[in-house]
Amino acid sequence: MSAAKQKTLKGVGASPGIAIGRALVVSKSPVRVPYRPVGGGDETEREVERFQKALNAARDDLNKAKAELGPDLADYAYIIEAHLGILGDKMISQRGEDLIRSQGINAEWALGLAEAEAKSIFENVKDDYIRSRSTDVEYVAGQVLKHLAGNNGIELSTIREKVVVVAHDLSPAETTQMDLSWVMGFVTDMGGPTSHTAIMAQAKAVPAVLGLERVSQEVKSGDFVIVDGSAGAVIVNPDEETLHDYRDQQEAYELYAQEILAQAHLPTNTTDGRRLEVGANIELAEELGTALTYGAEGVGLFRTEFLYVSQRTLPTEEELFVNFKTVAQRLGGRPVNIRTLDIGGDKFASSVELAPEINPALGLRAIRYCLKEQALFRTQLRAILRASAYGKVRVMFPLISGVGELLQARAVLEQVKQGLAEQGQAYDPKLEVGIMIEVPSAVAVADLLAQHADFFSIGTNDLIQYSLAIDRVNEYVAHLYQPLHPAVLRMIRQVVDAGHAGGIPVAMCGEMAGDARAVPLLLGLGLDSLSMNPLAIPRVKQVLRLASAQEWGRLAKNALGFATAAEVSRFMETELGSRFSTVLAARVPLPAQTG
Ligand code: PEP
Ligand code: MG
Repeated sequence: MSAAKQKTLKGVGASPGIAIGRALVVSKSPVRVPYRPVGGGDETEREVERFQKALNAARDDLNKAKAELGPDLADYAYIIEAHLGILGDKMISQRGEDLIRSQGINAEWALGLAEAEAKSIFENVKDDYIRSRSTDVEYVAGQVLKHLAGNNGIELSTIREKVVVVAHDLSPAETTQMDLSWVMGFVTDMGGPTSHTAIMAQAKAVPAVLGLERVSQEVKSGDFVIVDGSAGAVIVNPDEETLHDYRDQQEAYELYAQEILAQAHLPTNTTDGRRLEVGANIELAEELGTALTYGAEGVGLFRTEFLYVSQRTLPTEEELFVNFKTVAQRLGGRPVNIRTLDIGGDKFASSVELAPEINPALGLRAIRYCLKEQALFRTQLRAILRASAYGKVRVMFPLISGVGELLQARAVLEQVKQGLAEQGQAYDPKLEVGIMIEVPSAVAVADLLAQHADFFSIGTNDLIQYSLAIDRVNEYVAHLYQPLHPAVLRMIRQVVDAGHAGGIPVAMCGEMAGDARAVPLLLGLGLDSLSMNPLAIPRVKQVLRLASAQEWGRLAKNALGFATAAEVSRFMETELGSRFSTVLAARVPLPAQTG
């Protein structure tokens, strides 16, 4: 295919399928300053423009920071003004541009030279104060470099050719900016199998390999690449033989996907007649069509963060209401669990200001944020309640860690209901209130929580993160993220038992619920419903139909007897592999399992 040598990079398979095409590197790891000669003419002009854009972006950041200084820091605005002064001074802006033109070099390199010259001017001054200003020059240059290195000047919203997007990292906001019909695959340095890039990629059926550490440095725009989202591999500059092999695999995969889709609407009874509801996880109302096509019987998790990500201002009650109402109506009586805002941690929104935290995963996240920012919480609850008049809407609180928090959230909900009633606004007075079980403390007190909730939904993405102490977006520990860890299995059992003893159903909506290889175990552990990325639904349904609930119960009991995730995994593979090898064959539309 190409004269360059074939190279295989291994990462985390985060969204299944195979993409073959040209790479577009949209953002790079900011660690190295690259030297690149610039050929003159248009190329030089583009480089100058990139430099000016980075200067402007850094200026906007500084102005924003200045405007946002609280009254206690207002006296220090002069520091930012000094930085703005350096940024606007010709020793950086004009000199940088001159160097790009005169030396035919890239913007990063020119910036580095201009910075060194400016620093030496300050450092040669006798006055201590002025001499110390050289650190300000360094700071300002760093700000500009961040924009140059972090973003190649590509407006994500303007991508209009079929490409494989390569990035250092992709925030949910960046992902929503792209028209994904042009994106064949995602490849990033950062991220794990349950990061939000992975979830978005799965929701949109875009193959993705994440956590490749240095791919944004190793791949250049225009390189020919293969993304194997099932195996977690990226092949750069494939040779003819590899390409041929992957084209065959791509075809086989697509055939398999079509075949399984044809069975998507068959019911999910075990051979002895137990029914399990299989729902979809969605991020946007627009995904509902795909979810229904893939056989969703409801929406087990509607993540509402993305409504806050895609715009700079907070969504209004009316916007939220229209969105929720559309989903409720389109489901025509089938349930939708609308989860209240789960912002913070690895989820950011452009419309919500979050203070920097040393440990965001343990910080002001999800229900904690909403209980602090009650105006925002109330607006969302009003919209959910109003939508409940149009379908089977339920509300679900994320990251509940104990009874106190749940009671607080319920109290706000009651006040909001009362307000609506006083205004004569319709809502479902019997609206069910569920909670996500994703913090180990909630597992420990699940019996107590069951007295105040109408249902549980286990969020394994976070439950695994918090119980095994594995950052779900950290590629260095991704291999330790083990859904089959005996501790995880015991916790699931404990939650199911506590829920059932309290008379409420127990669902699961973490990524584990969509892993067909784990599903027999989940059914055996007694879960009542599963919710997953829509692509996984047909296959999960197919697996559920394979045997009796009794058999799966025995399997779960045996699985609980092992001491390590590896043993459980081996046991499951032998048990399932020997009996259902064709269904559980290797090339399947599911992310590769980790751990
Ligand atoms: C989970 O934690 O398992 C979950 C479903 O929620 P999210 O992935 O949005 O944190
Ligand atoms: Mg979660």
